[in-house]
Amino acid sequence: SVVVVGSANADLLARTAVHPAPGETVLGRDLAVLPGGKGANQAVAAARLGARVAFVGAVGDDEFAQAATSGLRDAGVDLDRLTVVEGSTGVAVVTVAADGENSIVVIPGANAAVDASLVRRHADLLAGAAVVVLQGEIPRDGVEAAAHLAGGRLVVNLAPVIEVDPAVLRRADPLVVNEHEAHAALRLLDRDGGTGPGVSGELPDDEVVGRLRALGVPSVVLTRGAQGALVAARGLGADGDVVSVPAPRVDAVDTTGAGDAFVGALAGELARGSGLVDAAHLAARVGAFAVRGSGAQPSYPWAGDELP
Ligand code: ADP
Repeated sequence: SVVVVGSANADLLARTAVHPAPGETVLGRDLAVLPGGKGANQAVAAARLGARVAFVGAVGDDEFAQAATSGLRDAGVDLDRLTVVEGSTGVAVVTVAADGENSIVVIPGANAAVDASLVRRHADLLAGAAVVVLQGEIPRDGVEAAAHLAGGRLVVNLAPVIEVDPAVLRRADPLVVNEHEAHAALRLLDRDGGTGPGVSGELPDDEVVGRLRALGVPSVVLTRGAQGALVAARGLGADGDVVSVPAPRVDAVDTTGAGDAFVGALAGELARGSGLVDAAHLAARVGAFAVRGSGAQPSYPWAGDELP
């Protein structure tokens, strides 16, 4: 089974012609209330494809809790370990202008309660999971506690980047990052080790993943948008143990949540016993599927949907 420890949000999406300037009011066209949050997105992606998934997280006692968890419920994610805390559910207020540019205000709300003491209450579940999945939208000590308690394979998506204990990254198998996050992970590990090579600006991607592994990360998946992903792990048999996994060519409509679709699909496939490269191949196709539709969770495939 897969256990995702992470965030759940209600995303309030307003479409406008232009973003309001400070002090200005603009008219919006319509409002959508969608389930979001990286943790929930990843859990939904894995569950829709058929994985058995449990979610460890928190929502508030307000009206947004239902919106935040509706996608999880529809996908059949086990919510027995969802905690309801006093106060507000995590909310993202998003304005989407006609040019497609987003402005976003994120209110962590109940996600801030997913700390080490909450996570430790689910030690049994974490110890027994085939795969535990973590991201950066909950407190740092919650991530660290979950990494410590994971009994099986640990998938760490350092998104958004938070200053976790480098020991978390050294347990990640794989660490899933985009280019920006990969550089941040290098800085975290380098500071810790002190002896690593200096991190300069423009490193080629295969060099970045090579350095992450040299600094003690067991395996790395670097996502590269339309270019797919690089997979780096011991024993892949290719040059420097790095394999490039292409993404299928699709007409991209909205890349929101594509990275989360990738991570969820990857985790589900690893839990089924696939190897990392095979899992990344599937994840790249699921990511490409997700960019063909708008929004995050609504654009994710179900088992049986034809993937590009
Ligand atoms: P993030 O949004 O976290 O930076 P990426 O942009 O790398 O993540 O996207 C994650 C995955 O989604 C990619 O590895 C790829 O499989 C898929 N993807 C993203 N953008 C495209 C695209 N334009 N065409 C095809 N696949 C895409």
